[in-house]
Amino acid sequence: MFPTDPPTSPGGSLAAALLDWYDAGHRDLPWRQGRDPYRIWVSEIMLQQTTVATVLGYYDRFLARFPDVGELARTDLTEVLRFWSGLGYYQRARNLHRAAIVIAERGAFPETPDAWMELPGVGRSTAGAIFSISRNMWAPLLDANVRRVMERLYGVAPEEKKREARLWEVSDAFGRESPRPGDTNQALMELGATVCLPAAPRCSLCPLAASCQAREGEAMLLFTRPGGQKKKKPAPPRRERVVLLPPDGSLLFVPRGEGRLLEGLYDLYGVASPGILPGTALQEGPYAGCCAGRELFTVTHTYSHFREVVRVVALERAPGEGAGESLPGGGIVLPLSRSLDGPVPLTGVAKKILKKLAQEGWGGAGKEER
Ligand code: SF4
Repeated sequence: MFPTDPPTSPGGSLAAALLDWYDAGHRDLPWRQGRDPYRIWVSEIMLQQTTVATVLGYYDRFLARFPDVGELARTDLTEVLRFWSGLGYYQRARNLHRAAIVIAERGAFPETPDAWMELPGVGRSTAGAIFSISRNMWAPLLDANVRRVMERLYGVAPEEKKREARLWEVSDAFGRESPRPGDTNQALMELGATVCLPAAPRCSLCPLAASCQAREGEAMLLFTRPGGQKKKKPAPPRRERVVLLPPDGSLLFVPRGEGRLLEGLYDLYGVASPGILPGTALQEGPYAGCCAGRELFTVTHTYSHFREVVRVVALERAPGEGAGESLPGGGIVLPLSRSLDGPVPLTGVAKKILKKLAQEGWGGAGKEER
């Protein structure tokens, strides 16, 4: 069904056609403004499993706070997480920080793709992107966009044996002869993101169409994955939690512990007791002796493998004297006004709750303590 021979045009001329197309107009993205390995490395880590549109909301702010690898290495992880907060997949920020410390200690960035891959959070594709763009020397990459282009261009069928090895092989061959290796990889990523789209590739605009093995016929159908034909995923499991708010507006934030999901981010204090009803007296914790009051609202937050439903419940009175003694380890108390852009990195669900509280005009002038 699929042609098995490689396309007749060698990679070099395909790369030239692709570069002409790229030069005629591409998205002006902030990480395309030079060859600084630090800026390119940060962008490639942020772009892992995250769209360009989302990264644009974080990249400049992150670089303004951490303008070079030395500053990133010197800064406490909590502060790094604060500037990553909302971007998700927080292990990336922890790895970026660990890798920055390694680079700062060595006093130099890695000089080969293999050396980049020794750093935490850098796989083969990320290493290829950083190396080729920052050094303008060739190394292949296979992010989701380039993988799709290669599958289609070279007819690498889903059931093909040694598929992964073949995709790396064709991706490597594509740019090996290019005079502009970094731009060739940028152009491949651009093509996948803007023309060779997953469900409806825009082949009439594609500079590689004349050599593409999947641009029409049955092959196209197989390589196209219309969203509507995707198998519906089963609903993720649901977890419930209650977040408790004292009436004086002082909000208690606690850090997620080591090894837990979202480690190092701060969440509003709560309990895993979805059955708490108005009038329930709390037996333990920083609010022991207080009574649960009315439920203010519910928020839902979806993670990759579960959905969390959080009931936000007001306490009927503030914790009494001595309650601060049982403040959970590393906890911090902040008024609503200082919470959202405050001193600690927040989980996404905590941000949702705070925004809703602010919209509804909730809160008082709580005291700050740590
Ligand atoms: S011709 Fe179509 S399927 Fe082939 S690479 Fe271009 S956009 Fe993708």
